[in-house]
Amino acid sequence: MTTEDLPRIPVAAPSITEREGDLAREAAMNAWGPGHYAYNARFEAMMAGHVGVAHAASLPHATSGLHLALVAAGIGPGDEVIGPDVTWIASMAPVSYVGATPVFVDILPDTWCLDPAAVEAAITPRTRAIIGVDLYGSMCDWTRLRDIADRHGLVLIEDAAEALGSTFQGRAAGAFGDMAVFSFHGSKTITTGEGGMIVTDDAALFARIQKLRDHGRPPGDRFFQNDEVAFKYKMSGVQAALGIAQMERLDDLIAQKRQIFQWYAERLAGFDGIALNAQPQSVCNSYWMVTVVPQDPEGPDKFALQAALSEQAIDSRPFFSRLTTLKAYRGRTDCARFLPEHPRGELMARNGVNLPSGYNMTEALVDRVSGALIRSLGL
Ligand SMILES: *Cc1c(COP(=O)(O)O)cnc(C)c1O
Repeated sequence: MTTEDLPRIPVAAPSITEREGDLAREAAMNAWGPGHYAYNARFEAMMAGHVGVAHAASLPHATSGLHLALVAAGIGPGDEVIGPDVTWIASMAPVSYVGATPVFVDILPDTWCLDPAAVEAAITPRTRAIIGVDLYGSMCDWTRLRDIADRHGLVLIEDAAEALGSTFQGRAAGAFGDMAVFSFHGSKTITTGEGGMIVTDDAALFARIQKLRDHGRPPGDRFFQNDEVAFKYKMSGVQAALGIAQMERLDDLIAQKRQIFQWYAERLAGFDGIALNAQPQSVCNSYWMVTVVPQDPEGPDKFALQAALSEQAIDSRPFFSRLTTLKAYRGRTDCARFLPEHPRGELMARNGVNLPSGYNMTEALVDRVSGALIRSLGL
């Protein structure tokens, strides 16, 4: 077969079984009236149980969770929020929604997560919060971030959108921030189509979040007596039913993700000049996306590699770009950059490519992608 005859390999694919379909149908038939929130409540209890925290609230997406976290923490104009230069824009855009100043710092070369030393160097009297992102299933150094947050009296927010099922020192992703968010977008580790969750152990923050996500209604309000102008961030019962079915299968899904990474690692680990997702000793990485970073800072960039893979009928994604280099932030004066002249994040942002990591991946497909990658990079 020539390349043109081969079916294209998508970069992401969910795992949807009859169980998801059955529960979604059940919710569509039943989740109305007094029982309209029953599926959400079950999904929330499963998520809180998995993470090991007291409270969870289902949301339309993770972006709304980060927005709520900032508002619940009372962050607004004049405040600074430190986060990584290299992440999906959803991690940092909500800082601007609340009128605060995003402060961008460098990431570490191995875990691709916030550099704690860079965070500490960027703290000013205006700093109010740190947003740590567990990138591509990797985990931040939460011990050091917690220590910094506590010493400076800062709110610690965990963007675990890409890390459901990962652990750091034996605790689940999502357990480290004062508040943490997950995403259930169709490409994520589990999906509800679109969807998100915010989790916290703090009862007062949770009460605040519950009110903020329902137009400022007091708890149990049935008379539309709003206390304040707030937001409407709810997940539908049908989405929650999908989430329940996905959570029932979480252990199996994480095992599949780790198997897919293992297949890639067996084929690619022997080559110099590339790096794959890290898994330091204290971490179990759920490998949301298997990611390769060619180490030559002058070599072909991520877009060239993607084009080469695409010619071999393989879809991929570029590593997130440095947010401060995007048009969205370049011209903005209401953000701050605490970055060295040559940020370490530049190499990943320039060269990194996410390889097909969906639940459709078989060992044979990983073989095909790995072969194409080795050829494309001339390894
Ligand atoms: C997907 C993602 C989000 C946003 O999730 P949505 O559900 O699309 O709002 C936030 N942060 C990171 C790191 C993500 O990958």
